[in-house]
Amino acid sequence: MQQLLKRIHFSLRMLHRYRHALAKIYHSSPRHLRLDKISIATLKLKGVAVLVLDFDGVLAAHGEPEPAEELEPWLQACINRLGPKQVFVLSNKPLESRIAYFKRHYPGVRCIVDVKKKPYPDGLQKIIALSGQPAEAVMLVDDRLLTGALAACIAQVSVTYITHPIVLLSKRPVSELFFMTLRFWERRLISLYSRL
Ligand SMILES: [Mg+2]
Repeated sequence: MQQLLKRIHFSLRMLHRYRHALAKIYHSSPRHLRLDKISIATLKLKGVAVLVLDFDGVLAAHGEPEPAEELEPWLQACINRLGPKQVFVLSNKPLESRIAYFKRHYPGVRCIVDVKKKPYPDGLQKIIALSGQPAEAVMLVDDRLLTGALAACIAQVSVTYITHPIVLLSKRPVSELFFMTLRFWERRLISLYSRL
């Protein structure tokens, strides 16, 4: 509980500091953007060498043990293009099943564990160190502004904000509704707060 309160306090402090950057990320993001609409070739042209993928909402619906099947071709193409050592998974919920999935299907891709949860920048900083690339060459793909995008602002890495996250309302209605509400309010909060 104390950890959670500390994280909320940290988030609010950082929200104040990065409110304009967050609003820019939100307002410049295409509507209905999902992971497999991202062109790795375009990212490479922009100098992105390392891709960091959030899990819930980005690779699968909330709480799923493995990435969504329909994303496998994109994931494989991404790994072929960047190399497995330059693809990372950074989730605030690094479940065993997820780590095992990547070990089994995409060896070389690293799931980051034992770091403070986003928006703390620790996970991204660890990835920068592991990849041997500068922060400018790293991009996080995340569906949350106050966790992932905020961590990216702090760690000074670029971010692609997923505006069309994967949602399985029929399977986990309570948690999906909770996160849909959270996404809605964080967008509103950032839009309003950035005008101050
Ligand atoms: Mg997420």
